[in-house]
Amino acid sequence: MTHPIPTSFRLRRRKWTVRRLTSSVSGKHAGLCVPPPPKQIRIYDIANNRGRTAHQQQKTFWHESTHAILMTMNHKLARNEAFVTGFSLLLEELVRTARFEESA
Ligand SMILES: [Zn+2]
Repeated sequence: MTHPIPTSFRLRRRKWTVRRLTSSVSGKHAGLCVPPPPKQIRIYDIANNRGRTAHQQQKTFWHESTHAILMTMNHKLARNEAFVTGFSLLLEELVRTARFEESA
């Protein structure tokens, strides 16, 4: 089951825009978190000459969003890739598998 990637969101009332692009300048990145205004999360269709599946792009969105959350908190782990990857994979699983009571 897939869930959509948002086009924007807010953290502490600051707007972040999610841009979907073909590839990064280097062609190596799956995504990028760009905190200076205008705050952006970039999700790339292609990285290392390989197309990225919808699920891979969702995982990238949660990875970059975790960077954004931690940067907003000025947290010391904001640029710790091992922590961000481990946390964001669990967050992505939680969001993908969450079930809510049906509204009447
Ligand atoms: Zn990262």
